[in-house]
This record gives sequence, C-alpha cells and structure tokens, in this order.
Amino acid sequence: MNKKGPEWEAVTIINPRVNSNSNSKLKCLFCDYTFTGGATRLRAHLLQRTGLGVKICSGDIPQLLLSRVIEEDQRLIDEAKAKTKAIKLALIKNQRTLDQCSQNNLKANLDSQISKFMFTESVPFLKIESPYLKNFISLSCPAYHLPNRKTLATTHLDREYSSVKAAVENAKNTNRFRS
Ligand SMILES: [Zn+2]
Repeated sequence: MNKKGPEWEAVTIINPRVNSNSNSKLKCLFCDYTFTGGATRLRAHLLQRTGLGVKICSGDIPQLLLSRVIEEDQRLIDEAKAKTKAIKLALIKNQRTLDQCSQNNLKANLDSQISKFMFTESVPFLKIESPYLKNFISLSCPAYHLPNRKTLATTHLDREYSSVKAAVENAKNTNRFRS
C-alpha cells in the first residue's frame, strides 16, 4: 500500500477513483481549482509545472507544505533516476556476459577444430607454433589465439580423446541393441 505524499494535504477529494485505471476528482484547497488526476498532476498544479494538462495554482500555498511537496517531488525524481540507472547497468552487464559467452563458445569451437586437424592429419604438435600459421590466424581471425604446443598435447588431446571415446562407446551400444 502506497503511503500518500504531502501533496494530498492540498486538496479535497470530490469523487474518489473507482478503480486503479481511473483518477479521483480533486479540488485545490488554496485556489478552488477542480481537476481529475493523481499525485503527478496534483504536484504539477502545486509546483506550477506546465505540460501535464492542469492549471497551475494561483492560491497561497503555505511555505511548509510547499517545501514538503518539493522534497517529495525530488525524492521521486531521484528514485526514478536510480531505477533507470540500475536497469541500464543490468543491461550492460547482461550484454557483456552474452558477448563473453559467445566468444568463449567460438574459442572452444576453434580450439577443437584445429586440434582435430592436428591429431587426425598426424601433424607434429610443434607445428602449432609455426609463425606462418600464427600469421594466417592473426589475419583471418585476429581475436583468436592458437593453443600452444603444451596445451595442445594435454588439455586438447585429452578432450578430443574423451569425445572420440564417447562416440565409439555410443556406437557400440547402439549396435548391441540393434542385433
Ligand atoms: Zn491550487
């Protein structure tokens, strides 16, 4: 339940709103102006803000009430700004995660392809460090860095081996059930 702001002390409600999509009919205690609206239009009237379809107040609003309404207005503006900022930050963070994720996928895929080429064509591991291959990669895919000889011979070899082994096991099982 929203607590009503100080602006509501400046009006009497002639007709209360009937549902959440409607607005109350209000009458200003200081200038007798009547209008339909909620807190935003009410503050616009009191704070002499044009462009919201309400006349500005011509009455004498007590200074204390006026400064409380100004304070409330500023609080709501700050709150909206903070929310917008939080949403922007969350979006930026989310985009970064997505970029990182697709980059990681691409790197893993490229690593796997170069590994398959090296292993199946029996290319000596040392050749992965060939300056000509490095030049070729840096021209065709500048964001990608080739694995070094050691990583190729350990991490990538193990990974490809496991993947081939799993495929063989899978094929064996499929054949067993077929016969
Ligand atoms: Zn007024």
